[in-house]
Amino acid sequence: MWDRIRFVYCDLDDTLLDHSGAERRALREVQQAYPELARLRGGYRLYRRINQMLWDAYGRGEIGREALRKLRFALWLRLLGGDPGRWAEVEAAYLNRYAAHWRWLPGARRAWLSLGRRWPLGLLSNGLLEIQRAKLARFPELQQARVAILAEEVGLRKPDPAIFELALERAGLRAEEVLVIGDSYETDIAPARALGMRTLWIHPDHPVSLPADAIAPSLFAWTRTLQKEHVL
Ligand SMILES: [Mg+2]
Repeated sequence: MWDRIRFVYCDLDDTLLDHSGAERRALREVQQAYPELARLRGGYRLYRRINQMLWDAYGRGEIGREALRKLRFALWLRLLGGDPGRWAEVEAAYLNRYAAHWRWLPGARRAWLSLGRRWPLGLLSNGLLEIQRAKLARFPELQQARVAILAEEVGLRKPDPAIFELALERAGLRAEEVLVIGDSYETDIAPARALGMRTLWIHPDHPVSLPADAIAPSLFAWTRTLQKEHVL
C-alpha cells in the first residue's frame, strides 16, 4: 500500500523531536534553580496535568494563548507552594532550559532524511508558534519540508478536521495518497483516518490495537522495516 503514498506529513513533538524528554529535563532544572520548588516530588507530573488541562481549554477556545502561557506556570507554582506572581520569570527559565534540551528522537533524523528521499514531506504541528518556529530554525533538516503547517499560523489546531483538509489542499492530493505520522492517536491519527488519509501511529509503549495503517515504536523502527521491504 505504501506505493500509493505521494506525500508524507509528520507531527513534530514526540514524533521527530524529543519534546517530552526536553520538557522533563527543563522542569527538573527549574525546580532545582528555585529551592522553594525543589522540596516537592512529582513536580513534572503535576506540570503535565496542568499543561494538558490548559491546552485542552485552549483547544476548545475557552482561554487564549496568553492565559495559557501564564496559568501553566502560575498554577504550577501555586500548587508547589511557590509564588504564582513569579510565573513570567519561571516561564523564561523553563523556555531557556527547554530549548537547551531539544534533540531528535533516536534515529529520527536519519528516518526523516530517508523518508525525504522517497516522498515529499510536510510538517503538521500544534504548539506555540514562536517555539515551533525556533525548532524549525534549529534543525535545518526540518526545512526540507515542502509544507509546514503550524497551528497558530493557520488559526487551526489538530484534531480539527479543517487543519487536515488544509494539509491535503496544500499537498494538492487526495486523502488516500497522503500519509500522516504522529504519536497522538486522538490528535494525529483519528482525525486523519476520518478523512481517509493513511496513518502511521508512533507508539513507543505496549502494543495496543487501535486502527491505523501501521503502528511502530518509533519513526526509525518503521523506516528500518520499509528498508527491509525495499520500499525505501
Ligand atoms: Mg506529538
